[in-house]
Amino acid sequence: MSARRATVVGAGQGGLHLAHGLLGQGWEVTLISDKTPAEYLQMRALSSHTLQERSVELERRAGIDVYDDLYDNRSLGVDFSTTEDGSSVALRFQGDWEAPATAIDTRMKYALLIEAFERRGGKVLYQTASVEDLEELTERGESVFLATGKGGLGKGFTLDEERTVYDRPQRDLMLLLLKGLQPPRPEQQQRITFCFNPEAGEIFWAPNLHKSGEPVHVLLVEARPEGPMDRLGEVSDGASALAMTKELMGEFAAWELDSVRNISLADEDSWLRGAFTPLVRRPVARLDSGRPVFGLGDVLIVVDPCAGQGGNCTAWGVDHLLRGLEQLDGVPDAEWYEQQFDAFWDEEGRYFVEFSNMLIEPPNEVAQAIFGAAQESRPVGDRLTSTFAHPKVLMNYLNAPDGAERFVREAEAGVRAEIPAPGPVA
Ligand SMILES: Cc1cc2nc3c(=O)[nH]c(=O)nc-3n(C[C@H](O)[C@H](O)[C@H](O)COP(=O)(O)OP(=O)(O)OC[C@H]3O[C@@H](n4cnc5c(N)ncnc54)[C@H](O)[C@@H]3O)c2cc1C
Repeated sequence: MSARRATVVGAGQGGLHLAHGLLGQGWEVTLISDKTPAEYLQMRALSSHTLQERSVELERRAGIDVYDDLYDNRSLGVDFSTTEDGSSVALRFQGDWEAPATAIDTRMKYALLIEAFERRGGKVLYQTASVEDLEELTERGESVFLATGKGGLGKGFTLDEERTVYDRPQRDLMLLLLKGLQPPRPEQQQRITFCFNPEAGEIFWAPNLHKSGEPVHVLLVEARPEGPMDRLGEVSDGASALAMTKELMGEFAAWELDSVRNISLADEDSWLRGAFTPLVRRPVARLDSGRPVFGLGDVLIVVDPCAGQGGNCTAWGVDHLLRGLEQLDGVPDAEWYEQQFDAFWDEEGRYFVEFSNMLIEPPNEVAQAIFGAAQESRPVGDRLTSTFAHPKVLMNYLNAPDGAERFVREAEAGVRAEIPAPGPVA
């Protein structure tokens, strides 16, 4: 029997995970990347996302093992503060993940994963795929998976209006990879430190591994449009990004100002600015010929980065898809792909979205009660923190009237996040 043939367009979080997984299932796989590994390493910083160990586990299942040889600069949990006035803390809690989370300079991760894919026998074409290319590939009988991220070709997928909550960006964003970020309290060093300001937005940072191999921090500023922090438009280069970070910390998270006194960019391109609308799209797009192409990752589900869920959601979505493809006799058609995506949405996807939206919206009463309890009780802080790895757990409590009471009681009794294992290995 001849091998099933797939082309994966886009060598990012989703495309690389899928391409590796398909190789493992015996597909003949071509990856189309608009950047070579060397170009990834030389470009402006990318999202530099933190992946929970559960997502890393899913990548390992697909044959991805690049993390094992890298310097261990993982995060152990969160240090979470809110403020009303920008100078003092209104609420604070700390908690541990159930397992350390991994964050590697995305430029290096993608470069390493392309090289590993080629070593495993995958074919890579370095080009920017066009709609004409997709027509040609599908005409040749390839299954075409589009993992091109937020912009570009993914815009050809229909917006899912029922599942999409926002019609505009909820935050203006700035990201920096930094050397010299030094939280004053040692227990904060290996944690994601969140500073939330309901009026202005959020500033947070996490341990990260720079492409040079040095441990650094990734820092994000999330400014509410038309709020008091909405001045990222003034940032035009690395120096102004650094200056803006200090200025905003001084005004909106002043108690952490000492942490950023000695920061410098990890490299001259290690900053990024932008804004995007969180949304959900339908999973299949039809080319002019009527032949289908299949979306994944940010093509289908885009969330605000505040809760660090987009890459994790992508990993869970790809794993779900791979398990489905393993069971499928033949190649996917539009109907099968729609069904598998809708099942993923119901089982997992919607919770990544709801969790992300929860953190950028004013908290409901249940959330307020749980956050308040986390300040008083470390077991509650730990349990709350561990739900970052599986947002479904928390959302099931937040949507129930007695959710806070149950969540706190169970945390005090030593119940952690009750995280179900990912589905069986395909
Ligand atoms: C500032 C920021 C911080 C984030 N932090 C986190 C976090 O902490 N944790 C987390 O889980 N998620 C985080 N995310 C989200 C995460 O980065 C994305 O959800 C994830 O990268 C999506 O993977 P993807 O494969 O869909 O897209 P991408 O990773 O964006 O990859 C798409 C790739 O396709 C390429 N491409 C595009 N068009 C073409 C074409 N026509 N032909 C060939 N190639 C093409 C692009 O160049 C790109 O390399 C963050 C996002 C941002 C913006």
